[in-house]
Amino acid sequence: VRRLLPVLADQLTRQLPSLRGGRKDSDRILMMEVSEETTYVPHHRKKIAFLLSAMRHFAAELRADGWQVDYVTLDDPQNTGSFSGEVKRACDRLEPEEVHVTFPGEWRVLQAMRAWEVEAGCPVVIIEDDRFLCSRAEFADWAEGRKQLRMEYFYRDMRRRTGLLMEGDEPAGGRWNFDAENRKAADPDLFMPRPSRFEPDAVTRDVLDMVADRFPGGFGDLEPFWFAVTRDQAETAFEAFLDKALPSFGDYQDAMLQGQPFLYHAVVSPYLNAGLLDPLEMCRKAEAAYRSGHAPLNAVEGFIRQIIGWREYVRGIYWLKMPEYRERNALGANRNLPDFYWSGETDMACVAAAVRQTRREAYAHHIQRLMVTGNFALLAGVDPHQVHEWYLAVYADAFEWVELPNTLGMSQFADGGLLGSKPYAAGGNYIHRQSDYCTGCAYSVKRKTGEGACPFTPLYWHFLDRHRERLKGNMRLSQIYRTWDRMDAATREAYLETAQAYLDRIDAGRRV
Ligand code: FAD
Ligand code: SF4
Repeated sequence: VRRLLPVLADQLTRQLPSLRGGRKDSDRILMMEVSEETTYVPHHRKKIAFLLSAMRHFAAELRADGWQVDYVTLDDPQNTGSFSGEVKRACDRLEPEEVHVTFPGEWRVLQAMRAWEVEAGCPVVIIEDDRFLCSRAEFADWAEGRKQLRMEYFYRDMRRRTGLLMEGDEPAGGRWNFDAENRKAADPDLFMPRPSRFEPDAVTRDVLDMVADRFPGGFGDLEPFWFAVTRDQAETAFEAFLDKALPSFGDYQDAMLQGQPFLYHAVVSPYLNAGLLDPLEMCRKAEAAYRSGHAPLNAVEGFIRQIIGWREYVRGIYWLKMPEYRERNALGANRNLPDFYWSGETDMACVAAAVRQTRREAYAHHIQRLMVTGNFALLAGVDPHQVHEWYLAVYADAFEWVELPNTLGMSQFADGGLLGSKPYAAGGNYIHRQSDYCTGCAYSVKRKTGEGACPFTPLYWHFLDRHRERLKGNMRLSQIYRTWDRMDAATREAYLETAQAYLDRIDAGRRV
């Protein structure tokens, strides 16, 4: 064997740089289902099943294409349980001249890869992952010398570089960003498209049985399992999104509705992150939907911004700042993550809906992640590392490069404002405005203090009050601090007491 080509679970594309440079006659692909990866956080069982099934389908596709693939299943008795152990075993068995592997999505795995050369006794070449539109080096260049990193400016550069939604040097429609039009509350009477569902085939069934067997008490429902597990299926799902949901994607991007876990979101992040879809191709198709008049600009611009803006930006931050980024805790938050993040057992209807849906689908849309579960953890002062591990575990799309900056930076402000300019903190009124959760809630969003008050509102003021020293200089919060200061002392006291009572209940493990 000339080269050994390990392919990881989030590298499932024939366009992978290490495969593009490979030769079918003399190279050997290695794919590994290893227990270290399935257990280092308690992953949702649907996430494990999705990735293993997508890997097995991809291996079959590669073989049909003429590649030789060594595939190690999770239940193989010889399986050592780690990438490093499996690469060493394959090197001993096949004696390749070199190992060629594509750059991983996680700092921890990169460290392991760097040790392979010594451990496996074979030269290892780590090839840059060009599935991203902005390389790590380009991001570092962009960030160099800037006092503040802001996604919006990065995004404009990416628009210019890709030419997406550009009219010459100008943005289509004369503006870069149409977010101001994207804050409609959803109406339960709207027609709601459903993401495409795929019946599990025999390969997926085998995986589901194995996961059920090996992770009996694991978090999350395994069935119904309807995720796409091949590139063809993922493309079908994305085409259906373009056709049915994209036109309304912008309008209802920030909306939440009871019983509607997906609204007009694409529900493609697991596919995109695993390598089943290509980001630039997706954006070109979305742009074509605008150019043909099928979808309005506010929708298409919003969608493209998430992918060439946010997605690339958080990856840039991750590689620029790891490993110290992971340890940050700018607000000194140290409360344990409440149990209801796992059980959904809470009287807060919005949180219960987000957690229960997460258990069922391994999916929640962005506003649920940011403004419900993320917001609550931020207001309650939960240790950001525990919050990070929760998000990494429970979502099918969670890989550390994308999850960590979103959680630690955007949602928990634990990076002190590197990623976002202000904390995404909000009281109950925000959730009430954007959703219909409050109508069915045991708490009253109208009640601000005392028994039965929506916990978000007093906790919001408690958060601002306790972090005043740190946040008072933030221009975007000055109006809010003025509102707080104008309240009479008794009102302020009532807010703080109510919030403290909720925090005490959480600490005592009592139901909130
Ligand atoms: P849509 O709303 O339809 O958006 C389209 C695509 O844009 C997504 O598929 C995704 O690829 C991309 N996108 C949108 N927002 C972001 C963002 N902030 N960062 C990166 N890409 C984005 N996304 C992940 O892919 N993996 C994660 O582990 C993850 N963890 C998150 C944790 C927190 C606390 C928060 C606030 C957000 C997180 N996100 C994560 C971002 C975002 O919530 C998801 O990408 C989105 O909900 C996926 O659903 P969708 O495909 O329906 O997205
Ligand atoms: Fe959530 Fe408060 Fe509304 Fe209940 S009242 S659903 S806790 S925002």
